[in-house]
Amino acid sequence: MNKAIIAMDKSGSFRVYLAITTSMVEESRRIHDTTPVATAALGRVLTAAGLMGLMLKNPDDKLTVQFKGDGPAREVLASARGDGSVKGYISNPEVELPLKANGKLDVGGAIGIGTITVIKDMGLKEPYVGRIELVNGEIAEDLTAYFFVSEQQSSSVALGVRIATDYSVAASGGMIIQMLPGAEPASVTALEEMISQMTPISTLIEETVQESAEKTPEGVIEELLSRIFASMPEAFAVEPLGYRQIGWNCDCSQDRLEQALMSIGADDLQAILEEDGRAELTCQFCRKKYLFDEACLRRLLAELR
Ligand SMILES: [Zn+2]
Repeated sequence: MNKAIIAMDKSGSFRVYLAITTSMVEESRRIHDTTPVATAALGRVLTAAGLMGLMLKNPDDKLTVQFKGDGPAREVLASARGDGSVKGYISNPEVELPLKANGKLDVGGAIGIGTITVIKDMGLKEPYVGRIELVNGEIAEDLTAYFFVSEQQSSSVALGVRIATDYSVAASGGMIIQMLPGAEPASVTALEEMISQMTPISTLIEETVQESAEKTPEGVIEELLSRIFASMPEAFAVEPLGYRQIGWNCDCSQDRLEQALMSIGADDLQAILEEDGRAELTCQFCRKKYLFDEACLRRLLAELR
């Protein structure tokens, strides 16, 4: 299932963005045919982008989160909109690495040393662009640092993708806790305590989904929220503000890919026309193929000249 919830604590000290993204990440795994470590890397970035999408004001606002490193995964990129639609890709979906000493998938090793870039397009003239060096390439810590350095926002990020023995996605999701202006110091202490004791979020999601089979998606995500925050003092108990949709959705089209094809310029387009008489482009997000025949290439050339 996919579902998201936004919540706030009673004292108004922090806001919570929580999402279950199991179906979305499984869909991305099938589309990109990813190895387990690639599934985890892409799944975490997709989930992170989806959570950040929940913070956007308008349904059409969009943001892109790009992890670029010197590791074998090379680039992992995800885009999300304010309406909860998410898409993404990993440059090398076939990356394979030994497990880390703690038995976990080595996402940090797959990404390597590099940068995280966040681009937000809110329909203004210039998009907002923030970039920082990666902390460890494990995605969650990198995002926490990004929020702190680029957006002067104190937050805590948890992301998790649990891979089943058949390599499908058993559970996936994430949470961003955002401290609000004027937060009570005691809430920070209580959150630190809670986070230090917290079971990995993918485990919590797998358990909650299994034990709440009769519940609606809203009921499941609310149950997950209350499990995570069960240990918080009453003064900082969390209350749901609203439920949101989140899910895989690629908005590619013949028109959009035509624009991409035209961007290579008239000379290169002419060369393709003469050598092949046709062009085939694959959407890098959903792998859908678009064919441009001779008549179409001639029309595009005419538009360029
Ligand atoms: Zn597409």
